Amino acid sequence: MNTDTHTIVSRHTTSEGVVVWSRCACGRLQMVLVPYGAGGKGIAAGGHDFQCPRCGR
Ligand SMILES: [Zn+2]
Repeated sequence: MNTDTHTIVSRHTTSEGVVVWSRCACGRLQMVLVPYGAGGKGIAAGGHDFQCPRCGR
């Protein structure tokens, strides 16, 4: 039973934060930038904006 629909493909650190590439259950690749600290702004690109029309995430 798999409750996580996103599979982590790769993860690496940059000067701005941690960049995580993940693949959704529907097959789309997504890039997410998780900034260091609490004041940063996260960036997501390549996948769905916020909710997957297929898997609901
Ligand atoms: Zn999806």
